[in-house]
Amino acid sequence: MKASQFLISTLKDAPADAEVVSHKLMMRAGLIKKLGAGIYNYMPMGLRVIRKVEAIVREEMNKAGAIELTMPVVQPAELWQETGRFEKMGPELLRIKDRHGRDFVVQPTSEEVVTDIARQEIRSYKQLPKNFYQIQTKFRDERRPRFGLMRGREFIMKDAYSFDRDQVSAKQSYQVMADAYRKIFDRFGLTYRAVAADSGAIGGDLSEEFQVIAATGEDAIVYCPTSNYAANMEKAEALVPAHARGAATQAMAKTATPGKSTCEDVAALLNVPLNTTVKSLVLATDTLNDKGEVVKSHVWLLLLRGDHDMNEVKVGKLPGFEGGFRFATTQEIDDHFGCKPGYLGPVNLKQPLKIVADRDVAVMADWICGANEVDFHMTGVNFGRDVAEPDLVADIRNVVAGDASPDGQGVLAIERGIEVGHVFYLGTKYSQAMNATFLDVNGKPQFMEMGCYGIGVTRLPAAAIEQNHDERGMIWPDAIAPFTVVICPVNMDRSEDVKAAAFKLYEDLLALGVDVILDDRGERPGAMFADWELIGVPHRVTIGDKGLKDGVVEYQNRRDSESTKVAVADVLAHVK
Ligand code: ATP
Ligand code: MG
Ligand code: MG
Ligand code: MG
Repeated sequence: MKASQFLISTLKDAPADAEVVSHKLMMRAGLIKKLGAGIYNYMPMGLRVIRKVEAIVREEMNKAGAIELTMPVVQPAELWQETGRFEKMGPELLRIKDRHGRDFVVQPTSEEVVTDIARQEIRSYKQLPKNFYQIQTKFRDERRPRFGLMRGREFIMKDAYSFDRDQVSAKQSYQVMADAYRKIFDRFGLTYRAVAADSGAIGGDLSEEFQVIAATGEDAIVYCPTSNYAANMEKAEALVPAHARGAATQAMAKTATPGKSTCEDVAALLNVPLNTTVKSLVLATDTLNDKGEVVKSHVWLLLLRGDHDMNEVKVGKLPGFEGGFRFATTQEIDDHFGCKPGYLGPVNLKQPLKIVADRDVAVMADWICGANEVDFHMTGVNFGRDVAEPDLVADIRNVVAGDASPDGQGVLAIERGIEVGHVFYLGTKYSQAMNATFLDVNGKPQFMEMGCYGIGVTRLPAAAIEQNHDERGMIWPDAIAPFTVVICPVNMDRSEDVKAAAFKLYEDLLALGVDVILDDRGERPGAMFADWELIGVPHRVTIGDKGLKDGVVEYQNRRDSESTKVAVADVLAHVK
């Protein structure tokens, strides 16, 4: 590719709505262009990255025996009514009508359609196992689309669905996918962790998320550095009551003043000085009658907002919490409040906190609050005067660094991640709902055993940037860089030698299959280098008159701070 023919459109400043570095850099480097909330044009530079991600995914999926097809973006509602998801799914599911008033959905995922295909195509156990996949546009009307491609409304997902004759075989299919995912994420050249995830009622232990490690990730990951234990926070929390009860919470429980909502009061409620770092808060309150008796209990969640505005805390009521305690899933909290509960990184209570009430909520009377780790992690809880219910107090406590690992092999650490892939054993949930059967060896109809496997194709580049960037711009791993090598001729218009050498190297690298771009725009060196550093091309070869006289060019890896002189003949060894 020649830069003069390509579209290179870099910006000095990121738009004001870009909060995280990947969003800022993708906008500045012209990889994406916003069309609406959570809806982006994939511009030529960005599309090259996406296509490389797709190619790696496709290659490994094919190797793992999965077969590619494409299912429609717009799907008839009838299939979604068969599983009940047309009604059950919240507003994330985009429902539309055609000119005849018939209902359709824009696919957020494709279990229904693929199960419909399987029940028509697969008749006998002899046709199983099968694994169908597509790389296709998805739409989820996310409550808070944000961070550019990280949480878009329209995005590209690779979604695969396995069909098996029995559980044993289904678990093998799951394992084949989990292994393929490791190969895929290894090839991307990113640091990631496969973590156990919640699989709902049916899944047993067969659900794992692939998390790219990055401080800005929306998910908290719990892992044990001295063993293989790794889980997402929701999964890890489910174990908390069993292995680490919050005795300290009870010990530190304090009754606080009712009806307060200033920063000082929150700090006072928690019995911490204003400069204390807190990670998450869960507060519960009771409604009392005239006699001071509890007539109603609520668990209120005091949430640190997802946009990392640490001076603002949201107080709200989650539906279903009335009259008792239960765990809320992260998704529920996110759906309702538009942010994840807790674990959003340290918060400093130095600044005044603005308490934002959700609906008709006011901070209520009779708090009992406590911290379960001094200066770090707090839960506040009030069951009226019922702190005598120690298990409830303990159950509210989240997993914190230093807790014993459930496998007994050490202590837990916490880091943040970006979910880029998810493998999930489904069982017969969809095949039963849609009557997808096959005839077994005895000629008897059986429900197909299923699994589903997703990769966020457009989220992945964002995650790669969150993990790999510096003050000058992005730093792509070779495997998914928009171009692997850029050739920067200096003053090409004034030197025939430079021009000839640049074109020759360009042709040579092309012939060797190297993904190279020649910057023949005639930009000044400073502007040219700034563009390519922003775009993050991993290898740069600069050709100038002076060096050519000595038979050398300058090679610089995007991670290097300086260039090195390299003989023209040795360039290939550096870029391959
Ligand atoms: P999240 O927890 O981030 O909302 P999810 O668990 O809802 O993701 P899955 O249903 O597991 O997502 O979908 C498979 C993959 O699709 C995810 O692992 C993620 O990489 C990607 N993905 C999901 N939602 C989005 C989105 N809004 N924008 C971009 N990629 C997404
Ligand atoms: Mg989601
Ligand atoms: Mg998730
Ligand atoms: Mg998921």
